[in-house]
Amino acid sequence: MIKGKLLVVSGPSGAGKSTICKRAVNNKNNYLSISATTRKPRDGEGCDDYIFLSENEFNEKIKNNEFLEYARVHGNYYGTLKKPVFDNLEKGNNVILEIDVQGSMQIKKIYHDCEMIFVLPPSLEVLISRLKGRKSETEEQFQLRLKNSVKEIKTAHEYDYLVINDNIDDAVEEINEIIKLLDKKIKYNMDFIDKFILEEESL
Ligand code: 5GP
Repeated sequence: MIKGKLLVVSGPSGAGKSTICKRAVNNKNNYLSISATTRKPRDGEGCDDYIFLSENEFNEKIKNNEFLEYARVHGNYYGTLKKPVFDNLEKGNNVILEIDVQGSMQIKKIYHDCEMIFVLPPSLEVLISRLKGRKSETEEQFQLRLKNSVKEIKTAHEYDYLVINDNIDDAVEEINEIIKLLDKKIKYNMDFIDKFILEEESL
């Protein structure tokens, strides 16, 4: 039985979503899913960031139906593994998926109860300067990310919540406020409500 909430966080590269999500999971029962990718690790990245796989290893996992979703993003494959997501949801943890819009749309189709959050920087100018600040990338990679970012922004209407990342502390707080507010949704409180009905019936 699924007890936790599934949150999908997307937005263009440079929106700062991975930093926000990492900070938001500091909260006791939030679990940030670690994706598998065929992208090479950047300086300083390790097993807390991604499960780095070869294309062969990634394809093997596709064949074995191990992914909840996967997509090709900026020329590399990225995917969410089913097992840790469902293990955590069953434990009652909120699971956060920080994934691109293609993956989000796949999740939305199969998991209607997911909560969709879109993260944006405060302006296009800030987005460009954040993308350029990534020294690890070539001009060609920058252009590809910028083009994909604009494509992603055009899908924002598919999401439920908008978080503008101007200041990281505020953005983390906003994500945590959204999670807190979700606790008030009727659909997550049906056990409590059903108890009233059952008790009344046994009076
Ligand atoms: P980066 O290479 O900058 O870490 O991530 C590139 C893009 O891939 C980001 O938009 C990120 O949200 C997305 N991404 C990361 N993990 C996954 C995943 O498991 N599935 C999908 N569909 N996208 C992912």
